[in-house]
Amino acid sequence: MALSLTDIVEEARLSARALLDYGEHLFNPTVRLGVTGLSRAGKTVFITALIHGLTRGGRFPVFEAYASGRIARAGLAPQPDDAVPRFDYEGHLHTLIETRNWPNSTVDISELRLVIDYQRQNSADRTLTLDIVDYPGEWLLDLPLLNKSYEQWSQESLALSREKPRAPLAVQWHTHLATLDAKAKQDEQATLAAAKFFTDYLRACRDERFAMSLLPPGRFLMPGNLRGSPALTFAPLDVPAGGKAPDGSLWAMMVRRYEAYKDVVVRPFFRDHFARLDRQIVLVDALAAFNSGPEALHDLEAALAGILDCFRVGHSTLFSVLFRPRIDRILFAATKADHLHHANHDRLEAILRRAVSGAVAKAESTGATIDVAALAAVRATREAMVARGRDKLPSILGTPLPGETDGGETFDGNTEVATFPGDLPEDPEALFNGEASFRGLSSTAAEQSDFRFLRFRPPALECNGDGAPALPHIRLDRALQFLIGDKLQ
Ligand code: GDP
Repeated sequence: MALSLTDIVEEARLSARALLDYGEHLFNPTVRLGVTGLSRAGKTVFITALIHGLTRGGRFPVFEAYASGRIARAGLAPQPDDAVPRFDYEGHLHTLIETRNWPNSTVDISELRLVIDYQRQNSADRTLTLDIVDYPGEWLLDLPLLNKSYEQWSQESLALSREKPRAPLAVQWHTHLATLDAKAKQDEQATLAAAKFFTDYLRACRDERFAMSLLPPGRFLMPGNLRGSPALTFAPLDVPAGGKAPDGSLWAMMVRRYEAYKDVVVRPFFRDHFARLDRQIVLVDALAAFNSGPEALHDLEAALAGILDCFRVGHSTLFSVLFRPRIDRILFAATKADHLHHANHDRLEAILRRAVSGAVAKAESTGATIDVAALAAVRATREAMVARGRDKLPSILGTPLPGETDGGETFDGNTEVATFPGDLPEDPEALFNGEASFRGLSSTAAEQSDFRFLRFRPPALECNGDGAPALPHIRLDRALQFLIGDKLQ
């Protein structure tokens, strides 16, 4: 691929950065762990639980270095990157433990440094520095835009918006689009209106009833400090993929802003954050997609393929000569497994494995080891056999958050209830082809009112084996073993 001047400058910067990082690695082994996932996938809860478990004594039997007592100490160190906000661990932990509420979700990138002193097997003690970088998955799904022209992106976005279940949500935007003449003189007000209708459409797709995942550009739904700026004020036009915008036209204005989005948002994210990661966990709210039916599941599948593509993009096309992203392990994790009975955890894992399998087969060239897990970073429920009529059914007990409703009842936040979450199908394929549904919900789930899980309050702390208060979890230790176990040998 021919490199443009921007790419070459970018590569030079990346290489300088990589050298700096490399020097630091030699002196002080460091793992930069990216934690990502779409909005509300569970990133904030995962990081808070992980740090709490490592620093205060979690119950982690499968995390070998920890379980065998080789970790002498784990503690927080000052956040190393001056331009990145610090992950508000203390605030989130306070909300989670003291008030037993869920902390505020990720809306921007943030970072935290953890220093782990450990005993090496048959050798001297060592320190591993773990930099945890939390960032919205929506930003990651922007990376493929780097290889797309405005016209290509417009055509793809339009095609997607004509499919089920998006089409009805796109009506207003499409109606406005039909009034626009791409070759007419540039017009700020028309652009503002188009961007607004397009953003409203993206937001409607993200609604939990539809749970669509693939919605670039990511900053349209999470604008942060760029809200209202021209780089975030554009929208697709119905223009041919290979066409060329006339000077001074509305079309040309959209192209300029689309390119600005790439320059101001996407490239800096790639260079300053994504390209520096060593390991990556991608959290997925798979249960929300199952609940919304097969279309949401296919959309999720496409988003996961898009995410894996990002790891490939870095390798094969974008910055190919001097620098390669160095991510060598990627874990896809289905979160909130505590909404299911444990008999279903393996099934949840199998379904996620099926959802990423196509993409994994394509993405051999990422050079990374990829695994899949079902977990709950914080387990808000417990299990019991509960009598229902003459039967005893495996059920989940939890305290619904105040204001949650079910079957006409509104909960006060202090009452524990039993729910029967139902079984996931044994054959993952059945969910994808719509033969099986989850919780008895069919593909028309979006039209029904009872389309989502009850949200439970976070649990009280439980004592671990040593009597230290710990947050209960499901398979968080397995995730840790995969993500950093080998670095603590
Ligand atoms: P983020 O947007 O990826 O940072 O998502 P959060 O970590 O804020 O999680 C979003 C919501 O999902 C939380 O407010 C909780 O309601 C729920 N959640 C996240 N992790 C868990 C978990 O391990 N168990 C349960 N029961 N709920 C969770």
